[in-house]
Amino acid sequence: MRTAIALGSNLGDRLHHLRAARDSLRALSPDKEILQAPIYQTAPIDCPEDSPDFFNTVVEIDYAGSPHDLLDATQAIEFHLGRQPGTERNAPRVVDLDILYFGDSRESGGLLEIPHPRLTSRRFVLQPLAEIRPDLVLPGDSATIAEHLDHLDSDEPALSLVQRAW
Ligand code: ADP
Ligand code: MG
Repeated sequence: MRTAIALGSNLGDRLHHLRAARDSLRALSPDKEILQAPIYQTAPIDCPEDSPDFFNTVVEIDYAGSPHDLLDATQAIEFHLGRQPGTERNAPRVVDLDILYFGDSRESGGLLEIPHPRLTSRRFVLQPLAEIRPDLVLPGDSATIAEHLDHLDSDEPALSLVQRAW
């Protein structure tokens, strides 16, 4: 199944954390291949005052297990990289891994929601995703990722490119 994961970090060595998470995600894939978007720097949204800027990106891999297996795996990676559970909502974090979509799967109401409910409203997700999957149409949707990005009505500040290859 093709699945994409959004990566974010706004604590410590952000590039290092994104690379470490990327390496662990690649290791989950049967062919050990990964499609990766550029890294962008973004101002924090809905975060405690004085939160540092985020580094954000998106990767896509093949994955052979279930969506819940993948959630377990992404949470293990977050924990392994030092994410502290149970802190203030949206507090600075070494790494946040959110599953954006999982093939044509749709799940809601439980521990896991896919496609991710805020995918199409967040520039820091749509812009990197549009770099690798502009023509993707999510299950249950009719517009492409590029169209969602074009029509995004959001007061989020523009993203700045950090690194295209990483
Ligand atoms: P956030 O990503 O909103 O900052 P967390 O990373 O702390 O918050 O995630 C909180 C919970 O969101 C997780 O424990 C997980 O069960 C749930 N969740 C629901 N849908 C998803 C998804 N698509 N990807 C990752 N987590 C999800
Ligand atoms: Mg998360």
